[in-house]
Amino acid sequence: MYLRHQTRPVKVGNLVIGGSDEVIIQSMCTTKTADVEATVAEILRLEEAGCQVVRVTVNNDEAADAIKEIKKRIHIPLVADIHFNYKLALKAIENGIDKVRINPGNIGKREKVEAVVKACKEKGIPIRIGVNAGSLENHLLEKYGYPTADAMVESALFHIGILEELDFHDIIVSLKASDVPMAIEAYGKAAQVIPYPLHLGITEAGTLHAGTIKSSAGIGALLSMGIGSTVRISLSADPVEEVKVARELLKTFGLITNAATLVSCPTCGRLDIDLFSIANEVEEYISKIKVPIKVSVLGCAVNGPGEAREADIGIAGARGEGLLFRYGKMIRKVPEEIMVEELKKEIDAIVVAYEAT
Ligand code: SF4
Repeated sequence: MYLRHQTRPVKVGNLVIGGSDEVIIQSMCTTKTADVEATVAEILRLEEAGCQVVRVTVNNDEAADAIKEIKKRIHIPLVADIHFNYKLALKAIENGIDKVRINPGNIGKREKVEAVVKACKEKGIPIRIGVNAGSLENHLLEKYGYPTADAMVESALFHIGILEELDFHDIIVSLKASDVPMAIEAYGKAAQVIPYPLHLGITEAGTLHAGTIKSSAGIGALLSMGIGSTVRISLSADPVEEVKVARELLKTFGLITNAATLVSCPTCGRLDIDLFSIANEVEEYISKIKVPIKVSVLGCAVNGPGEAREADIGIAGARGEGLLFRYGKMIRKVPEEIMVEELKKEIDAIVVAYEAT
């Protein structure tokens, strides 16, 4: 378990972000927010995958109006992503949004910022300040010449200052860049001077494969330093994949306790079974399990059981059969045709036993 830098706790709907070692998983809808059916369907899929907070774009009145109906049909806090337009922020707040992502320095006149802050205060809604290396304020680009980690932190402090002047402190901050070293530096510096929870993300990280690697490198480095209270993996892919990657990443650092882990071998010349498809099938099967068990799928019995000694349950392939083993000790042999089904039964039994304790 990698302990967090302590920050101010900020309430978002029925969750608290910051102030503890928990790291909350977020994602963002790809649907048109005004299309309530499609948006709700996507959010329900995200919930099932383990998403804890979901953001939707609120870029027009129809999107802001849709929030009321969407909120009735989902079970996790909903965040409105708003750029510049304070009236949309007010409408989203009125319609029951749980958090607003808006940069106060971009709203415009003081009265408009005050109106948003007042509405948030009245409803107990936090604001996320989203600094992005690609859209820094002109005065910072003039000062620094180009986007830098220091410019990003200064931008965050600028927006935070506006809210603090209005005695508003339910703030969450992100400092996203697609340049991984810059993002790590920006978040690292921000963690030293910003007392609010940090929302981690590597923006525009890319496709499922490349984006997962970039996000894991950047966010993983920060998590290992105890930085970050909430994460969003940004992928050019189904957002459910973002949640899966986030869960896997948090598991790596012991920051998630309600998920099963798969151990599987890379295979070698000793392999006698179709391990890749078995591993994928088992991974899919355990992805919905909400208890911290470890399952191993190994190509052979020579090194397998020993290599997965920590696993609660596992299977090792042999010619025409599978060897089921628990904590590295074989419990029985099963024919190859039914070995995955037998493994699933054993997994179910362990989950039931775990839930009963
Ligand atoms: Fe090779 Fe067996 Fe190790 Fe898999 S478990 S890598 S098949 S020796």
